[in-house]
Amino acid sequence: MTCDTVTVGGVDVPAVGLGTWRLRGEDCRRAVETALELGYRHVDTAQAYDNERQVGAALERSSVDREAVFLTTKLDGDSRSREAVRRSVDRSLRRLDTDYLDLLLIHWPNAKPPFSPVSLPGATPLSETLTAMADLVADGRVRHVGVSNFDVRLLDEARSLVDVPILTNQVQFNPYWDQRNLLSYCRRHGILLTAYSPLGHGGVLRDDVLTAIGRRYDKTAAQVAIRWAIQHDGVCTVPKATSRDHLRANLDVFDFELTDAEMERIRQPSKLRALTGFARSRLADWADG
Ligand code: NAP
Repeated sequence: MTCDTVTVGGVDVPAVGLGTWRLRGEDCRRAVETALELGYRHVDTAQAYDNERQVGAALERSSVDREAVFLTTKLDGDSRSREAVRRSVDRSLRRLDTDYLDLLLIHWPNAKPPFSPVSLPGATPLSETLTAMADLVADGRVRHVGVSNFDVRLLDEARSLVDVPILTNQVQFNPYWDQRNLLSYCRRHGILLTAYSPLGHGGVLRDDVLTAIGRRYDKTAAQVAIRWAIQHDGVCTVPKATSRDHLRANLDVFDFELTDAEMERIRQPSKLRALTGFARSRLADWADG
């Protein structure tokens, strides 16, 4: 299967990538290897996911060239100072068994929205982290930099602090959380919005609207949610999936197009629903041990 790309600032990013949060050990290695075999060319990990080694092993075992894959990792919370950025990225490169990253993100702002106007005491200034990331671009270890979970104000601040472009802001984006203001800011400034949790951590899978619309196209609610995300200009997405069937289904979203009316019907912003999906999935993880 092939995957469309989204182009921002001259950079092509595969519209659907594989998210790997909560994929660990052999499950992770197998899922990434299967994804590459099926046609995925975009993999999203993070220092905090504790799976960079397995992602690296899958890339190494796969017949797909490293150059053909868009690989992202994210800085952990304690890797923000100049020295820690450099040290932790070197460690990530070793674990991922590669000599460069396509994209390096700041995983979370120092203070999370809605508290973002308040700086945490003792936190590394954003300018120091971003400058250290830009230095890694200059020496070739990182191709692009970006942020995650930034609101408009913080994103604007980040853009003003470094000369290298902020390629993306990775945020939760799904029918229950449509990020209207942030998306229009990103579009105005040529920034890619990377949609995480496009399935609401699994919370959208039984959504009546998505299911009904999916019937028209012979698609599942999950496929409609992924299609809805990437049918927004300037948006790519990284659904997480474990089984071959789910991995295949999530890439099989390029042969249908939602109408404008369906795009609008699917949009059902509700912070409560967004949070409930997250809580339910964490509870299921906890129950699974
Ligand atoms: P998600 O992708 O919205 O949903 C994943 C859930 O949906 C899993 O339980 C998965 O089950 C299930 N699923 C996947 N495809 C399916 C299909 N076709 N049919 C039915 N069920 C399906 O959740 P997420 O993991 O929260 O988000 C995706 C990725 O975004 C993460 O893995 C991570 O890379 C990134 N993320 C980033 C941040 C950040 O702070 N930057 C935060 C959260 C997530 P199986 O695994 O059993 O297939």
